[in-house]
Amino acid sequence: MTIAKKIKCPVCNNKRLLDLVVAKDGEVMIKCPKCKRIIDVTFQDNRIKAKAM
Ligand SMILES: [Zn+2]
Repeated sequence: MTIAKKIKCPVCNNKRLLDLVVAKDGEVMIKCPKCKRIIDVTFQDNRIKAKAM
């Protein structure tokens, strides 16, 4: 069973920036479709940190 974790945008009120199902340690940069800011999402030890660049 997989559970998707919703990652919200740290800048605006977009509560669903992406749904994360599986992540190994790493980093992605995505653009929020709502506020157009670049959000840097890092995964480490099953923890997710999202911050605006
Ligand atoms: Zn946003």
